[in-house]
Amino acid sequence: MSDNESSSVPKELEEPPSKWDPSGPEWQDWKWQMANRLTSFEELKRLNIKGLKEEDFKFPLSITPYYATLLQNKDINYPLCKTMIPSAEELVKSPGEEDDPLCEDDMSPVPGLVHRYPDRVLLLTTNTCASYCRYCTRSRTVGTHCASTNIDLVVEYISSHPLIRDVILSGGDPLTLQTKTMVSLLTKIKSIPHIDVLRIGTKAPVVMPQRIDSDLIEALKAFHPLYINIHFTHPDELTPETIEACRKLAKAGMILGSQTVLLKGVNDDSETIKKLVLGLVKIGVVPRYLYQCDPITGSKHFRTPVEKGIEIINALQGFISGFAVPKFVIDAPKGGGKIPVGQTHITFMDDKSIKLRNYLGKIYEYPTE
Ligand code: SF4
Repeated sequence: MSDNESSSVPKELEEPPSKWDPSGPEWQDWKWQMANRLTSFEELKRLNIKGLKEEDFKFPLSITPYYATLLQNKDINYPLCKTMIPSAEELVKSPGEEDDPLCEDDMSPVPGLVHRYPDRVLLLTTNTCASYCRYCTRSRTVGTHCASTNIDLVVEYISSHPLIRDVILSGGDPLTLQTKTMVSLLTKIKSIPHIDVLRIGTKAPVVMPQRIDSDLIEALKAFHPLYINIHFTHPDELTPETIEACRKLAKAGMILGSQTVLLKGVNDDSETIKKLVLGLVKIGVVPRYLYQCDPITGSKHFRTPVEKGIEIINALQGFISGFAVPKFVIDAPKGGGKIPVGQTHITFMDDKSIKLRNYLGKIYEYPTE
């Protein structure tokens, strides 16, 4: 956790005082958090962040009051500031970058649905997120215009493709939808006979833990088993509020996993990732993926060499519990899907044996006859 995770808010933000009272009843209301998001340079200036530059504010910005308290009095280079505050570098398009590098639009048979793999689909439920990450793969749509998802067409498409057994609700962030809308979506999808697995991808427990309220918990329980993948970036996001949100979800029977994007100057060292993944397993969240940052337009300043991700995984593998080590993957440009990346541990292979290198670099032989 960061050194200033008290819930006190600087004097400058208290306009009017009741509006920014973390101990007040409104603060715990996720709808209030959504309605009072910081969306301009002027509002962000009140957080007293060192190095903030008005000329960098060219793209949509949105930060919940809750998450804003994690940024207050920090420097612009503080990892969490980097992930949420616009930078002029976003305006530079580098070679190989695309607005839609994963070709999701080309793989969308009906509006709001991406069908890339044979047995699963991605349902883009909304274009809204509680807070906007600067490196978002869907920045071409997220926060920019209304979702065009037609749920009837989606259900019709899934129903007519019996190989599909797994539906991932993503967005934007599905947990910015009203609870009754979520329930309606989940009910319609679950009623399709060949759907076995429902998943939700969200950053809400991290940027707006107030969203995990008793209404939502009660509603989601009905869809057990429900897999919830939470987008974590940095160990400083493991605040008491976020930990409590995860605890409530886990206690209600949700199966929790995490995904993290590897970002230069944010989390690109093994100690940071180790602190994050050990913090996650401690609260019942299994670290699933560490992603190489997608080459979206204006993301060069966030991308690390691929070797950095391999180096981080090698620094974890064998040194911490195996289930705490995320899989390092590249989501291949042009829609190739997630491809695991790593050093092979096989140093030699013939028809009698293979030789394997362990986490300490020692070589062991395994008979294959
Ligand atoms: S939470 Fe996910 S969808 Fe929303 S802005 Fe961040 S990366 Fe994009």
